[in-house]
Amino acid sequence: THKVEHLKEKLISQAQEVSRLRSELGGTDLEKHRDLLMVENERLRQEMRRCEAELQELRAKPAAPCTGCEHSQESAQLRDRLSQLQLEVAENKGLLSELNLEVQQKTDRLAEVELRLKDCLAEKAQEEERLSRRLRDSHETIASLRAQSPPIKYVIKTVEVESSKTKQALSESQARNQHLQEQVAMQRQVLKEMEQQLQSSHQLTAQLRAQIAMYESELERAHGQMLEEMQSLEEDKNRAIEEAFARAQVEMKAVHENLAGVRTNLLTLQPALRTLTNDYNGLKRQVRGFPLLLQEALKSVKAEIGQAIEEVNSNNQELLRKYRRELQLRKKCHNELVRLKGNIRVIARVRPVTKEDGEGPEATNAVTFDPDDDSIIHLLHKGKPVSFELDKVFSSQASQQDVFQEVQALITSCIDGFNVCIFAYGQTGAGKTYTMEGTPENPGINQRALRLLFSEVQEKASDWEYTITVSAAEIYNEVLRDLLGQEPQEKLEIRLCPDGSGQLYVPGLTEFQVQSVEDINKVFEFGHTNRTTEFTNLNEHSSRSHALLIVTVRGVDCSTGLRTTGKLNLVDLAGSERVGKSGAEGSRLREAQHINKSLSALGDVIAALRSRQGHVPFRNSKLTYLLQDSLSGDSKTLMVVQVSPVEKNTSETLYSLKFAERVRSVELGPGSRRTELGSWSSQEHLEWESACQTPQPSARAHSAPGSGTTSRPGSIRRKLQPSA
Ligand code: ADP
Ligand code: MG
Repeated sequence: THKVEHLKEKLISQAQEVSRLRSELGGTDLEKHRDLLMVENERLRQEMRRCEAELQELRAKPAAPCTGCEHSQESAQLRDRLSQLQLEVAENKGLLSELNLEVQQKTDRLAEVELRLKDCLAEKAQEEERLSRRLRDSHETIASLRAQSPPIKYVIKTVEVESSKTKQALSESQARNQHLQEQVAMQRQVLKEMEQQLQSSHQLTAQLRAQIAMYESELERAHGQMLEEMQSLEEDKNRAIEEAFARAQVEMKAVHENLAGVRTNLLTLQPALRTLTNDYNGLKRQVRGFPLLLQEALKSVKAEIGQAIEEVNSNNQELLRKYRRELQLRKKCHNELVRLKGNIRVIARVRPVTKEDGEGPEATNAVTFDPDDDSIIHLLHKGKPVSFELDKVFSSQASQQDVFQEVQALITSCIDGFNVCIFAYGQTGAGKTYTMEGTPENPGINQRALRLLFSEVQEKASDWEYTITVSAAEIYNEVLRDLLGQEPQEKLEIRLCPDGSGQLYVPGLTEFQVQSVEDINKVFEFGHTNRTTEFTNLNEHSSRSHALLIVTVRGVDCSTGLRTTGKLNLVDLAGSERVGKSGAEGSRLREAQHINKSLSALGDVIAALRSRQGHVPFRNSKLTYLLQDSLSGDSKTLMVVQVSPVEKNTSETLYSLKFAERVRSVELGPGSRRTELGSWSSQEHLEWESACQTPQPSARAHSAPGSGTTSRPGSIRRKLQPSA
């Protein structure tokens, strides 16, 4: 019975334990929890809907006002932001619904577990009932057994047996209980997790709510700003309208005033207009009559003009006739002049008195000029006045340019293919080199001629192609040397051209092509250094030699191919002074003889040319031979006779001027020529002749010693003619 009692107690405690477990597990608790979640969920959903509705409202509101205002941009930004937020809200909604689903699942599972728990409990109750029934049976049995003692032991035994069975059942139920407990623990775990999840979803919801609140406030702010902006714009607009209105009113007032003024003006103008109209009508009448008047006037004027024109015409005709007659006359005169002058002109240039002339009676001026005639020069020689007439006389005041002006035409004719010779003649110190070379600051004919040629050639460059070459040579003691060559000491020969043209040329004579003034300067400098290195006393040497600058201008007509060649010979002659009987001997005497010979030969050649003699003694000197083709034919020659003005040089001046006049006067009639030539054989000349005993036959012919006749040049010609 103890055992039974014990079992009973145990059963009761078991039942209590089960009921406790049941209450502990609290199916109702879980349910409560689930309901709470569901309620919370529903609330959130509602809140969300409300938010959405508000958003919609807000979105609809600001669409209307101000477009294009500066806040529209901000509004657009805000709108963008809003849509972004909405997107986020949508996302959050998705998340929420997911959570809801999960909660639903969990609730389902919970229900399942509860169901199973119920089943277990029912089973347990059944078992208990069964056990209690068995217990009751056992009690009854025990009681009956007590009544029948003998079989009690057996009954006990069966009870014992049965009680072991019960024990087994108990342990089984305990095991099951254990299992149920485990399941409950598991369920609790699940529940805890679910609670955690719910909590996190709560947090999320809170966050979302906060965000939504933030967006709402932002929206509110944007809306507020927009409203403010619109307000200020509205105010601006109103203000502008008011101002414009005020201005318009003021203007209106002014216009009204103006109108009043104009009205009064109009009133005063009306009488003036009336008088003007009257005037106008009067003028109109006059104008109508005007064309008639004008026509008459025009007619008379036309007639007058016609008459005048006729008169002028007849006058013109008369003048033209006269002009033609004059022109013919002028041409005839010109031809005559050319015939008279020939192509040879002689001019004189007097240098100014210089410091080198010294002082005293010897340095006084002995040369005067005719103020009315620039071809006359007067010389006071040993107290006796002598006058000479040349083609032109340049006084000491004449500049380099003045002299160049005179020779300019001659130089340009070289471009047209004429050969030209310009000689500077005179005693040493009379200004030959000054006239030909000049000074660096004031260049003479040489440089000016080349400059002129360059510019002239340039002007014709469109039709003609020209090359200008320059050679420089000197003749000393009848020897020709190249001043531009590498070997200035080398003697050059004058040869006949092998082409049979009869022209002369100098083999080995250096020719430089020049294109600019710089080129000429280089050539001159080169020639000068050549001469200075060769001769220790250049001044003395150059006064005893002839210096030649030969400029050749070759042209080709671009269109026709026609060729021309012109040669310009610029010659600085040796000093013409004569050496007295006593002072000359040796080399000085030889020099003097050579100079005399060549200058005489030049005089003879020019004389022969000007008197148009059949024979011209070119071969009598190197100079005339070299210049033969530049002196003959239609060549042009200019002799510049340099004259010193001072008293001490009058003898040489006289001699030079006589030479000039002789050369110039050759073309005059035979009688007058003879008389002119008579002056050649002056006392001075004879003095010199006796001093120079020249060995050459031609020179002998020149000197005709002792004869002193007036026909000397004629006799030279007669003697030379057969030899040619
Ligand atoms: P030449 O060559 O005949 O021996 P230069 O030409 O050497 O003579 O002249 C001698 C001097 O007289 C030089 O100093 C020169 O400058 C000067 N002279 C010559 N002619 C003139 C002139 N027209 N004007 C100024 N000075 C002159
Ligand atoms: Mg000189």
